[in-house]
Amino acid sequence: MEINSVCLRTLEFADPCALATYEKIGGYTALREILTKKTDPADIIEQIKISGLRGRGGAGFATGLKWSFMTKPSKDTKYLVCNSDEGEPGTCKDTLILTKNPHQLIEGMAIAAYVMGVEVAYNYLRGEFIEHYNCCEQAISEAKEAGLLGMNILGSDFNFDIFNILGAGSYIVGEETAMLESLEGKRAMPRFKPPFPAIHGLYGCPTTVNNTETLASIPVILTQGGKWFADLGTEKSGGTKIFCVSGHVENPGVYEIPLGTPFVDLLKLCGGMRTGQTCKAVIPGGSSMKIIPGDTMLSSNMDYESMTALGSGLGSGGVIVMDDTTCMVAALANILHFYAEESCGQCSPCREGSGWVATIVHDILHGHGKDGDVAKLIDLASNVEGRTICAFGEAFAWPILSFIANFKDEFDYFIKNGRSMVTGDSKVIG
Ligand code: SF4
Repeated sequence: MEINSVCLRTLEFADPCALATYEKIGGYTALREILTKKTDPADIIEQIKISGLRGRGGAGFATGLKWSFMTKPSKDTKYLVCNSDEGEPGTCKDTLILTKNPHQLIEGMAIAAYVMGVEVAYNYLRGEFIEHYNCCEQAISEAKEAGLLGMNILGSDFNFDIFNILGAGSYIVGEETAMLESLEGKRAMPRFKPPFPAIHGLYGCPTTVNNTETLASIPVILTQGGKWFADLGTEKSGGTKIFCVSGHVENPGVYEIPLGTPFVDLLKLCGGMRTGQTCKAVIPGGSSMKIIPGDTMLSSNMDYESMTALGSGLGSGGVIVMDDTTCMVAALANILHFYAEESCGQCSPCREGSGWVATIVHDILHGHGKDGDVAKLIDLASNVEGRTICAFGEAFAWPILSFIANFKDEFDYFIKNGRSMVTGDSKVIG
């Protein structure tokens, strides 16, 4: 399969982070052209719309449309925030852009800022990303020295600066309004929406929050054209997407492939399933997405529409592959333990519910399951979904509902026999 890399183009170079490396592959060509020709921002948005680029952080919102909300003149300062938090379990794609191709992100942010009339942007990195932070700092310093950031960029009247910010290690700060709270120096707690950030964002000013991969895709779209990008993918899912494949495959890793690629082809890139095993199930977009049975995935394509049609989602591109040695009770217990730890605590259904469901599944896993536990899990998950401030409620409700919908027999067996139907273990560590 021929792969047209969009975001990981510098990987093969010895010094992928360097400005000189990025310029070797045509880096900053799009920004130079825009500033020289004084391109109308509306024309840039049109190309992004043609490209079909959708937010790569999880929500999949159309990027061109999102930017268009910010083009109206405002008496308030406008802000751009790059969401480099990447906390979704199973996801490790932005990490490569930040450490191996930071200049492409900087160029994408500069173009976004030009389009939306932004002069200050923040690149908010996950607290543990010290190395990534250093790479981005180095890249910003190089870009400034070369006149690609700062005042009067490349001799134009465009002024733009980026500040890298390290978070404090919470999962929920990846939610865009929680990120804005954190940037304001407050605890990262999601805000009620509406108003949306484009109206009332950072410091109450119009703000756009885009994911790292989304912004890093922009320069290539503008140099090659929106149609070129769109044609790489499917009719409704344009371009390539970076998938992080983990679990029971021969070669777990990060793979950039055209959207619409059959899952079996992605599996082949990963060297296939572990020797002798079959694909039992896949979580296609990070731990908060619904699990899909293996045989269904093996006949599906990796794009937004295909995953939605299966009742799940492409999410952040974290593909977690499980073979037939996997105990689904243990797998769900592991996921729920994470969410119980990470609720911000603002909403009762999430604060109380995430711990409650985690305890029920933990008890089942340790041989203390009771009749009615499965029904209670379904009831609790159903009553969380749609009743919380942010999507964290769905993030732990969807795994419960989908694991039980597809593997209820394993939960029933564990409750009845006190041991796993798959491994036979009576004390599976979860
Ligand atoms: Fe916080 Fe959970 Fe409510 Fe989101 S759903 S705001 S994480 S308590």
